[in-house]
Amino acid sequence: MEAWVVERNNEPLVHIEKPTPQPTGTEVLIEVTHAGVCHSDLHFWEGSYDLGGGRKMLLTDRGVKLPRAIGHEILGRVAALGPDATGVRVGDRRIVYPWLGCGDCRQCRAGQDNLCLNQRSLGVMQDGGFGSHVVVPHPRYLVDPGDVDPAVAATFGCSGITVLSAIRKVMPLEPDDVVVLVGAGGLGLAAMAMLQALGHRAIVSVDISADKRQAALDAGATAVVDGTRPDLTAAIIEAAGGPVYAAIDFVNGSATARAALDALTKGGRMVQVGVFGGELTLSLVGLIFRATTIMGNNTGSLADLEDVARLAREGKLAPIPVTRLPKREANAALMRLRDGKVTGRLVLTAEAV
Ligand SMILES: [Zn+2]
Ligand SMILES: [Zn+2]
Repeated sequence: MEAWVVERNNEPLVHIEKPTPQPTGTEVLIEVTHAGVCHSDLHFWEGSYDLGGGRKMLLTDRGVKLPRAIGHEILGRVAALGPDATGVRVGDRRIVYPWLGCGDCRQCRAGQDNLCLNQRSLGVMQDGGFGSHVVVPHPRYLVDPGDVDPAVAATFGCSGITVLSAIRKVMPLEPDDVVVLVGAGGLGLAAMAMLQALGHRAIVSVDISADKRQAALDAGATAVVDGTRPDLTAAIIEAAGGPVYAAIDFVNGSATARAALDALTKGGRMVQVGVFGGELTLSLVGLIFRATTIMGNNTGSLADLEDVARLAREGKLAPIPVTRLPKREANAALMRLRDGKVTGRLVLTAEAV
């Protein structure tokens, strides 16, 4: 097999060849045909997160070892099965759930692998979709995309389940309650499609890029707000027609979180999703009198992936815009994402696809 790996942070990915793994036990070997390029891949490549207050978290502090094939939005065909793997056949096309846990703790037993303390996520702790093959420990982590465009379905493994999980955290809402989405990149547009699939009609999208604001309007946003405005809170409230019950921050930097929080009405909820980083100063008494809820969202569960795939198979989930690139252009894809030049999602494809 071959892979494009991070050998050193902030240096070009390296193309390597190595023996193709043989699945054992319940393992399934997947030949990757489509791999989405996520902002988290970029953070992995850079090697650190901004924790706020001048502090940084290094990926090596999380136990990450290099070289690593990044890429956690993975779709491919079953290439081989371990002797105890059942339920799929060679050649079947499947979306891979990448946020693997230990399989044995209370979170994993509750189907919340994404909240396991001993994660073995594909593309982070183990090699992922930037390789030609990945090994999945059990067929239950594979979800059928049906006839959905495989480049779109690949993005369900991170983008799709992250937005569904974040949206569930601001529910229940009435169909016409405004949801503010900060960021109109891949996740923001996916959230818009998901909200619409769930019957929500009032969406205010905030982005610093005019192109991305246009993409949000094209995707059905009720209103857009220029994220560079100095009076951002007031601009959001004006666009929404008043303070809002729900904001989801796909940027999650100090300035965006501040603006979104201050745009909430009493009893409002804000969900943090992005990893831009920074910090937020809170009035503790203000939290009480405004009955505010702030939550972090870390990807989503396997059940979320099954739900996203079902919505898409039933034709309810509009596809996000995807741009396909051959996998050998993995470096260029990362740089395009770093430079903010991507509308929707870049998806790397195997040569034959
Ligand atoms: Zn991701
Ligand atoms: Zn676990």
